[in-house]
Amino acid sequence: MAVVSINETDVLIVGAGNAGLVAALAAHEAGTKVAIIERAPVERRGGNSGFSGGIFRFAFRNFDEIRSLLAESPTLPFTKVEVEPYPAGTFHNDLMRVTEGLADQTLTKLLVEESLPTVSWMASRGLVWELHVTHASKRGEKFIWRSGVVPVMARGGGRGLVDMLFDIVERTGIPIYYGVRAGRLLTDSGGAVHGVSAQTHEGRTEFRAKALILACGGFEANPEMRARYLGPGWDLVKVRGTRYNTGDGLSMSLEIGAVPFGHWSGCHASVIDAEAADVEAESTDTTRYSYPFSVMVNREVQRFVDEGEDFQVYTYAKIGRRILEQPACIAYQIFDQKTLPLLRSPYQNSRPVVAQSVDELADELEMDGERLKRNIEGFNRAVQEGEFDSSRRDGKRTRGITPDKSNWAVALDSPPFCAYAVTCGITFTYGGVRVDPQCRVVSEDDRPIPGLWAIGEMVGGFFYHNYPSGSGLTRGSITGRRAGIAAARYVKGR
Ligand SMILES: Cc1cc2nc3c(=O)[nH]c(=O)nc-3n(C[C@H](O)[C@H](O)[C@H](O)COP(=O)(O)OP(=O)(O)OC[C@H]3O[C@@H](n4cnc5c(N)ncnc54)[C@H](O)[C@@H]3O)c2cc1C
Repeated sequence: MAVVSINETDVLIVGAGNAGLVAALAAHEAGTKVAIIERAPVERRGGNSGFSGGIFRFAFRNFDEIRSLLAESPTLPFTKVEVEPYPAGTFHNDLMRVTEGLADQTLTKLLVEESLPTVSWMASRGLVWELHVTHASKRGEKFIWRSGVVPVMARGGGRGLVDMLFDIVERTGIPIYYGVRAGRLLTDSGGAVHGVSAQTHEGRTEFRAKALILACGGFEANPEMRARYLGPGWDLVKVRGTRYNTGDGLSMSLEIGAVPFGHWSGCHASVIDAEAADVEAESTDTTRYSYPFSVMVNREVQRFVDEGEDFQVYTYAKIGRRILEQPACIAYQIFDQKTLPLLRSPYQNSRPVVAQSVDELADELEMDGERLKRNIEGFNRAVQEGEFDSSRRDGKRTRGITPDKSNWAVALDSPPFCAYAVTCGITFTYGGVRVDPQCRVVSEDDRPIPGLWAIGEMVGGFFYHNYPSGSGLTRGSITGRRAGIAAARYVKGR
């Protein structure tokens, strides 16, 4: 077996997504020699971070606090912008509310308190941030971001984010070895980690280092692990992001005594075009996030979820699971002429079923026409009076049907109708390893495993059941920066 001659490396990072690249930068700035190994070939690099929307959730007291971070667009000057504050307390409450009170308190505090400082630090290193216009609602000339709907994204979305990060990291001279799949952690007689054994194009190779940071994602792209941990049917879902996150880092860590932590049977799974690719399904056309304005039914013509429970950013991560429970894992989002103008841009290039009447819609969707008519009429009768307002939780709801629709309920009565077939797409898994606040991986006896850190998707305890959008990238950057600094300190203290 070859031992790769990067013996001088202090800190080795496994995985070049957002978390790994941020960790590399932080460890480099802290004065250590850093190298990265990445399973993907260079042309497919970037991990889930590259597939992401590039949206970062962070707490801020008012727009002035974040204005200096943002590149102002000539087409959307700040004078036309109104961004409601998102205080730390609200971010904290959102995390605890959507995770049903289960999120780890220490990690939640870290996520909230470090969010703005970390985004600001990234900006100071050259990351460019912009307003995320899709999340804005328009009132007259003003674009308004309601509190919590996440106003900021990296320029160019997820691809822009990783391109900028690779650029920054490459300029430091940190080497990145592509096409290298880590498979086993190397430990010394005292249990300290000093590298990995990895598969390369030339065969199995050992990469040695004084400290190791695992940044290689969850197990969302591994059908066997999905079925094992998430349950029956999950082996069949579409994978929105990278094909390379197959749980290697988790398996390697558990093998040497890391503690599994968090919601191992839970994952972020949202709603995508039923015809999207099975793996790496995400594209500019495949998300189907306008469902709060739809009536969503399954193949048996039943509604099965409160489409308007809350803003999309607070519900989309759990809706995939509900769709998976439906026959053939399919649902239809139905809109009429009143709600069609509210569709987001990814719907534009697709081909919905268009029908002039409910009968025709049933025919086209091969559904029981009588049942569809009865259920739509029942829905329409249940719609309560009130003012429809897509920009806020308008409380315009139904009463007396199951499930009720809590906001944005309007009668489906203005043909032509458009129906979009959707399915479940897994985004990332919630289960991970337990880390301490320095992101050191903790063993069964509650002590850090010397020389081992885990960051990003690999860390358990942040998310349970559900997830507020934009928190994954922020989590990756915070844990990455922490681990980079801590690993550098460890190396220097040896
Ligand atoms: C379609 C989509 C949209 C999303 N949108 C957003 C968003 O807008 N905002 C947000 O906050 N979150 C979003 N997320 C979630 C977020 O992207 C991820 O949770 C986050 O990017 C994970 O970062 P990471 O660095 O931990 O993992 P990744 O970015 O996935 O990086 C892991 C890297 O490890 C590599 N790797 C895996 N196994 C090995 C191995 N054995 N050896 C070497 N390398 C290995 C992989 O190839 C990959 O490059 C989205 C996710 C998807 C899929």
